[in-house]
Amino acid sequence: MIRSHRIRLNPTSEQANYFARAAGTRRFVFNWGLAEWKRQFEAGEKPSALSLKKQFNAIKGEQFPWVYEVTKCAVEGAFMDLAAAFKNFFEGRKAGRKVGYPKFKAKKHNREGFYLANDKFDVSGHWLNVPKLGLVNMAEKLRFAGKILSAHITRTADWWFVSISVEMPDAPQPQRPGQVGIDLGINRLATLSDGGVLENQKPLRSLLRQVKRLSRSLSRKQPDSHNREKARRRLARLHYRIVCVREDVLHKSTTGLAEQYGFIGVENLHVKGMMQNPALAQALGDAAFGTFSRFLSSKVEARGGTVQAVGRFYPSSKTCSDCGHVKADLALSERTFICSTCGLTLDRDLNAAINILNEAMRLSAGSR
Ligand SMILES: [Zn+2]
Repeated sequence: MIRSHRIRLNPTSEQANYFARAAGTRRFVFNWGLAEWKRQFEAGEKPSALSLKKQFNAIKGEQFPWVYEVTKCAVEGAFMDLAAAFKNFFEGRKAGRKVGYPKFKAKKHNREGFYLANDKFDVSGHWLNVPKLGLVNMAEKLRFAGKILSAHITRTADWWFVSISVEMPDAPQPQRPGQVGIDLGINRLATLSDGGVLENQKPLRSLLRQVKRLSRSLSRKQPDSHNREKARRRLARLHYRIVCVREDVLHKSTTGLAEQYGFIGVENLHVKGMMQNPALAQALGDAAFGTFSRFLSSKVEARGGTVQAVGRFYPSSKTCSDCGHVKADLALSERTFICSTCGLTLDRDLNAAINILNEAMRLSAGSR
């Protein structure tokens, strides 16, 4: 099992400067590779990330000697990215998906960062040791023990982070007998089929006014001015803070669920489709269903449990969890489910959660 731990770094200004140069090198090399790919393809050649890497390595000493100032992983990573970008493009096109041609990386819109291969660093306590750069302080110790595979150093807002991937032996886990169905919602983050409720702390909503104010202030600043850059960074820090608060809530609630239940049924929500409705988008983005499901699956599976997704067209809200009668329609405003056949009267979301558990168990039994 491979797990990643993302840790905030406290680099010296010299180290931060090195990180920025390494990230810049990766971006430059990626853009060089992409431009060459286009040029060679148009000239009737068959470029590949590997052939381009060889060509780059042959000329870098003469044309781009500054790439030697940072780890050679920055160059390697750029060609790994280029290979991945074209693989994604070709495979997507083959599968009939709408995938754009790989784009040049602009400094502004690009998530800055670079990789370190596992023989190019080591970790001990609160320190990340990078040859030629020295010891970089980490805000926390690495949480996982195992074989270190790679590190990815990235910048978010004004901070640098390292994400370390570790391969861990699969430890046998005690089976958790609990079973639960989860109805994800906007008012509440989740309603459980056993009556439990996870409240949705809406960090975005309470911080939204600040975001709006800062966005307005940013748009009033002169393009390319120092003040604009300051405002942009302030907004980026605020967005990052919102993500932290939100993920913290999601981590805590999904860990609690994974500890307690060995079998969990959830709706396979079509988040992308729902996001197209702008009125719902804010609340949905805030509730972060996608992140919730991702966290939940990885934690439950790490403990040897099962998350069974229920198809998004399964009418979990309209079905009576007692007699199975399906209502023709149910308004969003009806918060209580009342069955016209058997008379069951139940909280709408609780009824849906019970149905999700039943349907998940049915699907799971069928797949075995
Ligand atoms: Zn009924």
